[in-house]
Amino acid sequence: MALIVQKYGGTSVGSAERILAVAERVKRWRDQGNQVVVVLSAMSGETDRLIGLARQIQERPEPRELDVLMSTGEQVTIALLSMALSAQGCPARSYTGAQVHILTDSAHNKARIRDIDAARVKADLDAGHVVVVAGFQGIDELGDITTLGRGGSDTSAVAIAAALKADECQIYTDVDGVYTTDPRVEPKARKLERITFEEMLEMASLGSKVLQIRSVEFAGKYKVPLRVLSSFGEGEGTLITFEEDAVENAKIAGIAFSRDEAKLTVLGVPDQPGVAHQILGPIAAANIEVDMIIQNIAAQEALTDFTFTVHRNDYARAMEILEASAKQLGARQVLGDLQIVKISLVGVGMRSHAGIASRMFSALAQEGINIRMISTSEIKISVVVDEKYLELGVRTLHEAFGLDQASAA
Ligand code: ASP
Ligand code: MG
Repeated sequence: MALIVQKYGGTSVGSAERILAVAERVKRWRDQGNQVVVVLSAMSGETDRLIGLARQIQERPEPRELDVLMSTGEQVTIALLSMALSAQGCPARSYTGAQVHILTDSAHNKARIRDIDAARVKADLDAGHVVVVAGFQGIDELGDITTLGRGGSDTSAVAIAAALKADECQIYTDVDGVYTTDPRVEPKARKLERITFEEMLEMASLGSKVLQIRSVEFAGKYKVPLRVLSSFGEGEGTLITFEEDAVENAKIAGIAFSRDEAKLTVLGVPDQPGVAHQILGPIAAANIEVDMIIQNIAAQEALTDFTFTVHRNDYARAMEILEASAKQLGARQVLGDLQIVKISLVGVGMRSHAGIASRMFSALAQEGINIRMISTSEIKISVVVDEKYLELGVRTLHEAFGLDQASAA
């Protein structure tokens, strides 16, 4: 007998019919003798609908009230699934986040889980029930409802799995696993049987949207065995593992990309101590996250150029701030570019294999793709290129590293 936590996303519970299908799957797991906890999202589109309603009332909805509103989406699906399970002869109970004491901090709309009291869930499981918990929501110390940020049900599921010391946390979604890259961009993308936790963390943070990044962080911290699989078909999905040896001996796991990038450049700033701080300090103070940074070497005039990237949503604000600091620094000019993307190669094999970067750069060069910025870590290499090269760049690298074949690279 195993204890399994299963999370179903919005599309998987998008209609009464689909909820009945989920109930069948849950029941099958339970009938095989497993204890099952189910964590649900709201029906697909529901959270957006609720936010839309709020915006018709208030341009910037009150965060506390928005949480009260948004958390209703999950309350609908948990009740419906419990009914579906009971109707199929499988005793079930639904609970909101507050009812099972998913305690969070008070950062409304992006709260972090602090603690979960697993006792109630365990008692129900031992009594033979399937327990159905609302994802995405919790309660803070004041008793106020909180939500965990968009896509937060993944994190709820992993946190509950950690608290219950579950044997596996299964994330059911509308794709059947983690792919070498987005199949919409490269149809030859291949589903991975396994990926290491570190690689998954990079893929999630670099733009692969299969899992909310916080859920992966959480899984890493508490060593929760995590599996991504389809709620529509059968199949083993992709296991996110902590054992590097267990991964196919590929050097590269996959290619992530992000269209959410913007680049800012300030030309002709003095090449002297403190300048980077003068440029980036005010940006950080405005809570804008900077991703890549390049500072050129000064030529004769002791002036240099400084470039960095931010999320596209932060571009306008970052530009305003940069223009002000550029003036103070006596910079020559400020430039911005929204037509850029980031493409990243991810793989733990980079640690032990040289030459991956040069292979990447040469493959891009052969297609005439100009690299504007580069950044590397132990297990990833990211490049910024012009937006028009996104598809070509991803496909070129997929091919160059043989990712369509099982024993890649
Ligand atoms: N319903 C929430 C959202 O749409 C949480 C989730 O689905 O994970 O973001
Ligand atoms: Mg999701």
